[in-house]
Amino acid sequence: MLGAMQDFELRVPRVIEHAEREYGTREIISRWADGSETRTDWAGIARDARKLAQALERMGIKPGDRVATLAMNHSRHLVAWHGVIGMGGVVHTINPRLFEDQLAYIGNHAEDRVLIYDRMFQPIVDKLKPQWKTIEQYIVFDGDGPDSFEAVIGAENGDYQWVEGSEREPCLLCYTSGTTGNPKGVLYTHRSSMIHAMAELQPAVFDLSTQAVVLPVVPMFHAVGWGLPFAAPMAGVKLVMSAVNDGKTLCDLMNREKVTHSAGVPTVWLAMFQYIDETGAAPEHLKVVTIGGSAAPRAMIERIMKMGARVNHAWGMTETSPIGTMGAPTHDWDALTFEEKVDKTVFQGRAPFGVELRTVDDAGVLLPRDGETSGRLQIRGPWIIKQYFQDESGPCLTADGWFDTGDVAVLHPDGTMQITDRAKDVIKSGGEWISSVDLENAAVGCAGVAEAAAIGVKHPKWDERPLLLVVRKAGSDVTEDDLRVHLATQVAKWWLPDEILFVESLPHTATGKLLKTALREQYRDYRFA
Ligand code: ADP
Repeated sequence: MLGAMQDFELRVPRVIEHAEREYGTREIISRWADGSETRTDWAGIARDARKLAQALERMGIKPGDRVATLAMNHSRHLVAWHGVIGMGGVVHTINPRLFEDQLAYIGNHAEDRVLIYDRMFQPIVDKLKPQWKTIEQYIVFDGDGPDSFEAVIGAENGDYQWVEGSEREPCLLCYTSGTTGNPKGVLYTHRSSMIHAMAELQPAVFDLSTQAVVLPVVPMFHAVGWGLPFAAPMAGVKLVMSAVNDGKTLCDLMNREKVTHSAGVPTVWLAMFQYIDETGAAPEHLKVVTIGGSAAPRAMIERIMKMGARVNHAWGMTETSPIGTMGAPTHDWDALTFEEKVDKTVFQGRAPFGVELRTVDDAGVLLPRDGETSGRLQIRGPWIIKQYFQDESGPCLTADGWFDTGDVAVLHPDGTMQITDRAKDVIKSGGEWISSVDLENAAVGCAGVAEAAAIGVKHPKWDERPLLLVVRKAGSDVTEDDLRVHLATQVAKWWLPDEILFVESLPHTATGKLLKTALREQYRDYRFA
């Protein structure tokens, strides 16, 4: 027997329609790269999105076609997402920080037909135009000629009905930056995006309502802008978007617009702290600060909490839409000391309803949630990837339907999750796992150390042992002995690196993460003295 309720496809355009109807006058502020500002509202976004949908149809774009964006955060980028998706198209967000060959590859692999970009990325477009084989039309978000966004939508009247269809159709494509091989595409559905956005509104996740004033520092091209371009209109928040993310611009915007919620990777907050230290200014209205993309350092969590805001430590990846877990105050929060609250926030929080986590060992055997045993983190749920875009090899899941994240984690009995490393970075010494991340964090806590990388090097007896590569801060003469004395106070004795090498620099991915594959390759045949 079936139930007797309405079949109501969870399609993304319903969100912008809802925002227009229920929160039409709630504002969206854009700070552009040239310093100028514009203001619109949810009704304005919906109106312009319909005009863009009309213009794209006129160009011959069909449902399922990919329309790429190469742009920072601003209202027109938001219009582009909702307009493309509303006409049945697929938005392909291109990350301008990828390497040139990756940019060429993904444009062709996605078979983008249109590219809408910010003027600041004109040099990238000029360079790659000859290599992008499928792009027929280039539109400039902040241009002023006939190919400008305003000119393209200005020719339309906005009399348009959103395209209907199945909630299982695609709406957005985002490639992972990938530390090995070519980037891989994650193709989200209307349904996955809507369920994910609904989960994001919860108090224990982003805590969004129309009272919120949100400044997402995370760019829309990075892991779906953490879903905020869908969750924000759902809740009818006031949105503040900035194409530049220096400490001064962000701090000024946050105070003037009374921003209550913000979200970004740890480096954003480092830049903000530097500005605060130099000027004495500070964001005054922040209530919820979400940090994710890589581990939020303890000192950063403490400082933001002392500013009076709640820190949401989030873990996720492009493949998980991206919210996998979120740290939020626990039931006993009010009874905890400040230190205890920080201790909890250093972990990556818990899974919201919808996703499930488990850890397994290398043989796939389920591990206990005992707060001690670390293993490969796996996840499943309606907003988790099943198969990479056009990947002939089939689904990227275990035989029983879980996605292996490539992260190593500990699950705690109270439900919290703690990332300890990436699976391929963990150092396997005598059957035990040494967390390369913990070693690196301990090393950068030593005065004079700018950056450190720990990798496993082959060892005849222990299988692998840690080699620590260290970049000194400018002007520092920190020695191996200094570092060994420091590390001995931080990690177990058997974790101490067999050798420490000082190097000039370390390799990074396009998104600024340590490129350990390159290091492992470089030191593959290294032998400890
Ligand atoms: P990439 O940056 O490689 O393109 P993602 O942005 O999807 O891809 O990165 C996902 C990875 O970032 C995760 O698998 C995890 O290793 C790391 N990560 C994300 N959030 C956190 C966090 N809060 N703590 C530790 N690691 C994190």
